[in-house]
Amino acid sequence: MFQLTNKTALVTGAASGIGASIAKTFTQAGAITYVADRDLEGAKRVAQDLLDQGGKAIAIGLDVTDEAACSQSAADITSRHGALDVLVNNAGVGSIGTILQTPGTDLDRLYAVNVRGVFNMAKAFLPDMVASKRGNIINMASIGGVLGIRDRLAYCTTKFAVVGLTKSMALDHAADGIRVNCICPGRVETPFVQARIAEYPDPEAAYREMSATQILGRMIKPDEIAAAALYLASDESHMITGTAFLIDGGWSAGK
Ligand code: NAD
Repeated sequence: MFQLTNKTALVTGAASGIGASIAKTFTQAGAITYVADRDLEGAKRVAQDLLDQGGKAIAIGLDVTDEAACSQSAADITSRHGALDVLVNNAGVGSIGTILQTPGTDLDRLYAVNVRGVFNMAKAFLPDMVASKRGNIINMASIGGVLGIRDRLAYCTTKFAVVGLTKSMALDHAADGIRVNCICPGRVETPFVQARIAEYPDPEAAYREMSATQILGRMIKPDEIAAAALYLASDESHMITGTAFLIDGGWSAGK
């Protein structure tokens, strides 16, 4: 099993779904884990569960679109532990629609969280990583960051940007001892996907259809994404950087 003993990690969007699962997996692997979310009450619930299981977890309220708040968090955490070992930029939001159905304000809203949020966090934590010559950043992209998906114009636009940002950062900071990767999940059964399904006129049919996009025939479980995040965060993956790690149940293999 991969270990993060005595490492400090921060996971954004960790009050729910994939982020909560990554926080749990990291804590079980021995990391001191900051459970960050704009939903502070949710982050506290997740952190308390992890503490109850004997892990080391700290909840913080943080909106990744707030650049000043990201910088302040970096200053607070770094003054306590030194440079962060692992930053997981997982917070993300979605919307449905073609370009004709997507208001410009919706694209801006998704961009602010999915792209600018990753940028704000990486920019805030990177200087101390560079100074200490080590660091590991994992961004949550999507299958929608490597393939177009029907009716997901704004979402795919932002997730392709996350893949580009990841690869550019990996190139720029390899010599600083920093690895930057992203994970590209297919459909993962979380409140995020449940909310999309509920928007369809026939949610049961939508569930079946969304399960079938994974050629392995079901949706992915949050813990299956967290296992990949743990591998990328661990020293065992030390020759992996700049990758877009697909965990898509075979969605991208073709039809
Ligand atoms: P989720 O909705 O269950 O959880 C997302 C969390 O992010 C929530 O707790 C929410 O409060 C938080 N959040 C949203 N905006 C924020 C902000 N501005 N600042 C801080 N926190 C914020 O979603 P999930 O399914 O667990 O998705 C997590 C990530 O995985 C997202 O980036 C999403 O795009 C990506 N993803 C999800 C799927 C999927 O099928 N569920 C597939 C591919 C990629």
